[in-house]
Amino acid sequence: MSDYRVDTKCVQAGYTPGNGEPRQIPIIQSTTFKYDTSADMGKLFDLEAEGYFYTRLQNPTNDMVAAKLAVLEGGSAAMLTSSGQAANFFALFNICEAGDHIVSSASIYGGTFNLIGVTMAKMGISATFVSPDCTPEELDAAFRDNTKAVFGETIANPALTVLDIEKFAKAAHDHGVPLIVDNTFPTPVNCRPIEWGADIVTHSTTKYMDGHGAAVGGAIIDSGKFDWMAHRDKFPGLTTPDDSYHGIIYAEKFGNEKAFITKCTSQLMRDFGCIQSPQNAFILNLGLESLHVRMPKHVENGQAVAEFLNEHPKVKKVSFPGLPGDPYYDIAQKYMPRGGCGVVSFELEDRKAAEDFMGRLKLAAIETHVADARTCCLNPATSTHRQMTDEQLLAAGIPAGLVRMSCGLEAREDLIEDLKQALD
Ligand SMILES: *Cc1c(COP(=O)(O)O)cnc(C)c1O
Repeated sequence: MSDYRVDTKCVQAGYTPGNGEPRQIPIIQSTTFKYDTSADMGKLFDLEAEGYFYTRLQNPTNDMVAAKLAVLEGGSAAMLTSSGQAANFFALFNICEAGDHIVSSASIYGGTFNLIGVTMAKMGISATFVSPDCTPEELDAAFRDNTKAVFGETIANPALTVLDIEKFAKAAHDHGVPLIVDNTFPTPVNCRPIEWGADIVTHSTTKYMDGHGAAVGGAIIDSGKFDWMAHRDKFPGLTTPDDSYHGIIYAEKFGNEKAFITKCTSQLMRDFGCIQSPQNAFILNLGLESLHVRMPKHVENGQAVAEFLNEHPKVKKVSFPGLPGDPYYDIAQKYMPRGGCGVVSFELEDRKAAEDFMGRLKLAAIETHVADARTCCLNPATSTHRQMTDEQLLAAGIPAGLVRMSCGLEAREDLIEDLKQALD
């Protein structure tokens, strides 16, 4: 499957039915799996044989969908998680423990910023946040002896900054640690971070991959390229015996291709249990089957909306990496020549102008969501960030009149007419 084009992979990767088997992936709605002998089951518990024993750790439906995602991103192994938050937490916690440190782009999803900056800090894992636009020297200076991972988002939600993946990968590799990239917004249809040097890719599959606002989910894809044994001292969890698994050394037993995901499944999924339900995995796969058809339309609508808003006298500023003149235009062209995604953010006069405008929209619904087939919008000042004063908002780089609009799959003429009547 890995030789096919991305469109074919979206439709067919991950599951090939045998003679007389279901054409669509089966939903294995079972918590547990039956074995003839205790010895058979023992082999699974010892990670001596591959198979399923309890859906909190692994489920066949999920694994078929994860296999598709591994092919799509060009990775060696993948797993699904219950949400994007769980995916990012697992990806980091799989290689960081108390006393360790993370270097992260400051321009990331608010939930992830909180996860790294507050919740993981309480677990004893510290972080240094850097601007995605920092110089290589500034990036280099953020590392410490105990740094174990670098994190960033290909296109950040909601700031729409674009990560220079090669710059971040080089810094990570110079310091002997992997780069983890959250690729939720462009999806592998528009960008494959592993091709640019990322070692691990994460997703909130809740967004474009599902694409219909139907199922919360996440995923982790490992490139299989990071050489854990070459940095043995930094990653004892992968390179020294796991006492909770009969002294298995993951990097030795499973190699660079499978070690990261096997450890993440057998330790973190076992202990935290953030599994995606097989029903949701099935829904996610339906979304993936049309991802390559939907993404160009999201991009096209985003581009048309951004160009319209850019010309409108009541709009103070538009951010969209596909807009010539956007500070991230050149870098977006490099990493995403087919476009990024359909999210546009723009600034109106003030909080009241944004509220009035959104109230008059007929097609775009007010929602805390993005990347849905239906266009939606949000004014952070009156929703996600409403505890903040206008001064605090400005300090955080979020003007009170900012609107984030996620362009769906409707006719672009209808979207623009709706925007026009609401602005005028
Ligand atoms: C939404 C989002 C998340 C969190 O995902 P959930 O599925 O809501 O847990 C993480 N990263 C990015 C870039 C997101 O947009």
